[in-house]
Amino acid sequence: MRKINQHKIEEFWTLLGKSENIIIVSHKNPDGDAIGSALGFWHFLKSLKKDVNIIVPNDSPDFLKWLPSYDKVLSFNKDKDICINLLDKTDLLICLDFNNLSRLGKMEAYIKQNEKPSVVIDHHPDPGKGFDIIISDTQVGSTAEILYRLICSLRKEDSINKNIATCLYTGIMTDTGVFSYDSTGYETFAIVSQLLKKGINRIKIHDEVYNNFSSNRMRLFGYSLNDKLKVIEKYKTAYIVLTKEELKTFDHKTGDTEGFVNYPLSIKGIMFSVIFIEYNNYIKASFRSKNDVPANLFAQLYFDGGGHKNAAGGQITMPVEEVGEYFESLLPSFSEEIDMNNKSI
Ligand code: 5GP
Ligand code: MN
Repeated sequence: MRKINQHKIEEFWTLLGKSENIIIVSHKNPDGDAIGSALGFWHFLKSLKKDVNIIVPNDSPDFLKWLPSYDKVLSFNKDKDICINLLDKTDLLICLDFNNLSRLGKMEAYIKQNEKPSVVIDHHPDPGKGFDIIISDTQVGSTAEILYRLICSLRKEDSINKNIATCLYTGIMTDTGVFSYDSTGYETFAIVSQLLKKGINRIKIHDEVYNNFSSNRMRLFGYSLNDKLKVIEKYKTAYIVLTKEELKTFDHKTGDTEGFVNYPLSIKGIMFSVIFIEYNNYIKASFRSKNDVPANLFAQLYFDGGGHKNAAGGQITMPVEEVGEYFESLLPSFSEEIDMNNKSI
């Protein structure tokens, strides 16, 4: 199994031993890996008798709210005073599934001024500065998988109960596109097999996460593909723009558009897919790509974002009516940029 640097494990274990009030933090717009990892590690730390809380910047999608002890997840947006109070008295921050404080939205400032010992456990490229310990492996498909490896390295494998296994499985399943992405190697399947041995119900987990659409969400999905999808064959690209008004028409809830961006990649020949979603004061962009098309480079260059090669995100502030045209104007130079590396869209 891919090994985590022993020195880091020892440093982490020592820091953990000294800490009583721990806060697990994950990123804005939390996904299955963020919440699965946070709750999986929460259950694990509870088994070590730690006082531990979870804070995420904003609400999670409904399809994650069935996870065991989800009620322990605090949202900074909603419970600001409670969160600030907890942050003040914590002696260790464990940052899961992100490596740059900018992923914390409005919470960033509070975490920065907080100056508590911090550990990052993550799989995104380019870990930022400002953390005491970074346990990172960009080759691994999910933070949940790294946590499993970490728990094994601490020789605590036996403490993985059904709840921990359910949460970690959810993180691995969602971040690997149900075990379909490049990063899903034989070790992932070996870990999944160990998690299955803990008695988890993988059929239920899959059902809760993926077969959980409200009828409005399903109609928004249909509308996005039928009315809003734009295909640019020349650049093997497809994109969707959804405005605030459109979201309102379909009574949009957090997480409703999650996963939509993947579908245009099912069109034969399409290598790059993007969805732009208008929020109150910015437009969120999600990028997905195939093979060597570096979605993270695109996000970094033009949308103040980043992520993995085939799955990235970012944001921009501009009138929503202009974002499609702006995006299309970037494609020729992006195509040239990646051509320089002998790759093509
Ligand atoms: P999503 O499109 O699902 O929001 O994000 C896809 C991937 O890109 C995830 O791995 C996520 O962590 C990363 N990502 C999303 N938004 C941002 C962003 O604003 N900045 C950076 N650096 N990464 C992002
Ligand atoms: Mn992840």
